[in-house]
Amino acid sequence: MKRLTAYVLLLALLLTGCGGSVDPDEAQESIQVIAMDTAMLITTYGERSPAAAYACEDTIRDLEAKLSRTDPDSEVSRLNAAGGAVLEVGEDLGVLLDAAAYYQFTTGGAFNIAIAPLASAWGFTEDHFRVPSQEEISGLLKLVNGFSLQQTPEGVALGPGQSIDLGAIAKGYAADKIVQVLQEYEVPRANINLGGNVLAYGTRPGGAPWRVGIQDPKRTDEPNAFAGVLELEDSFAVTSGGYQRYFEENGKRYHHILDPATGYPADSGLASVTVVADCGEGSGLSGMMCDALSTALFIMGEETALDFRRNWSGLPFELVLITEDGRVVATGGLADRFTLDESSGYTYEEAAS
Ligand code: ADP
Ligand code: MG
Repeated sequence: MKRLTAYVLLLALLLTGCGGSVDPDEAQESIQVIAMDTAMLITTYGERSPAAAYACEDTIRDLEAKLSRTDPDSEVSRLNAAGGAVLEVGEDLGVLLDAAAYYQFTTGGAFNIAIAPLASAWGFTEDHFRVPSQEEISGLLKLVNGFSLQQTPEGVALGPGQSIDLGAIAKGYAADKIVQVLQEYEVPRANINLGGNVLAYGTRPGGAPWRVGIQDPKRTDEPNAFAGVLELEDSFAVTSGGYQRYFEENGKRYHHILDPATGYPADSGLASVTVVADCGEGSGLSGMMCDALSTALFIMGEETALDFRRNWSGLPFELVLITEDGRVVATGGLADRFTLDESSGYTYEEAAS
């Protein structure tokens, strides 16, 4: 009997790691989550890695339930269907609406969540792709550019006919909330990919930076065909590109990032924009910033995007721009962290500071 008790005790010690010999880097959990219209991969390390990974999934699913435009029960859908009536909104949607207004203002209207009716007209929301007539586009642009959000103590209301789509900012916000979860679960390191929104948290096991590939926009049919690789720790890297979602009609390609100045898919000479920022202490909602800016800077084009960054007074960020004429342009802070894939055929330039 005594021997059995001792054996059970030893087993319990081994399982709980009280022997002090458990390497937190050996404890790893990887889960795939299909949410927010994309495939996500969550990899956490540390003794609480399974619980942390599932808590990240819960955070994503909770946000999706509130923010989805295609789920009729979400807060966003109810706001869009409210016909201009005031609706009380929860904390997450409140934060996102404030941020969206800020990014719309600071990007001179390139970022605009009231793009929703236009995105629907192009069929990007429901996958019924079509090229709307110029007349239809002009009519919808009035709604988009006349976007006004009424904020009252009781809640918020959209203008008549207006509706919102948080597709360009919600994953970045989810990444910010995931940072909080990882801190709460004392996760030492994690690699989170929310479909184009990467969170390189801590370092790789062993202390080297995470390697984050930037998709080659010309070779999207090849997984892991990169224009180059970034070495990052405690950072967000968010990419927007015209190759992510598109359809073709009469030999012309139409993608999902719409320019509120024209109502057409942005045609700025850029193939993709990657925005990189810190996720460490004092970085606030920088995941959301990366997401909003990757979309807006893609619309602006190379020169305007680089000027925008020079004049930016918010949280610092770095850029990797891939141009349609075959150049990769990185800002100075990434010079030591970006390696071009020589076989990709791109030329590398450092942007003037
Ligand atoms: P992805 O979501 O594919 O990673 P983005 O972050 O660039 O890429 O967001 C693109 C989505 O944002 C579109 O699918 C659409 O829902 C929405 N969108 C398109 N154009 C704009 C725009 N000018 N401003 C804000 N949101 C936009
Ligand atoms: Mg975005």
